[in-house]
Amino acid sequence: MREALTAYVALGANLGDAAQAVRDACTRLGELDGTRLVRQSSLYRSAPVDSQGPDYINAVAELATRLTALELLAQLQRLELAAGRERPYRNAPRTLDLDLLLYGDARIDSPQLQVPHPRMNQRAFVLVPLAEIAPQLVPASSLQAVAGQSLTRLPPG
Ligand code: ADP
Ligand code: MG
Repeated sequence: MREALTAYVALGANLGDAAQAVRDACTRLGELDGTRLVRQSSLYRSAPVDSQGPDYINAVAELATRLTALELLAQLQRLELAAGRERPYRNAPRTLDLDLLLYGDARIDSPQLQVPHPRMNQRAFVLVPLAEIAPQLVPASSLQAVAGQSLTRLPPG
């Protein structure tokens, strides 16, 4: 079997019980075939960017996975659908958004999948939780660049 490698997934939700949706999704990620949840960040609250509706709840999960990047993407999309996600229009409010940020040190540029995620460095709601669990991956200058975006770390529980 393939060796496990480290992948980072950004989780976001802004409909229904968004905090619960993000916590449940972390659990589900760790239950995928050949996959283990290594770490999960705190939950964060952020105002919608290029989007509408209630505030988002965000987090980042570190996985050790034997799935290929495309297999993992397919599983992320399956979990989004299982959480009741609909895509009525671009950037619509969503019950669950799962984005693959990093997959080992792979660089992927295909129509369905770009890794590293092309917009991750513009988003405090990705970089701050990623820096919490993997500080070595986030340069201070990147955090500085998004420091103006409001983001609140939620207490545990
Ligand atoms: P967004 O997350 O940008 O708000 P969606 O979740 O609707 O938008 O994703 C749109 C498409 O982005 C998906 O169909 C997927 O194929 C593609 N995509 C490209 N790269 C990635 C990635 N790294 N993680 C998740 N989806 C990706
Ligand atoms: Mg997405």
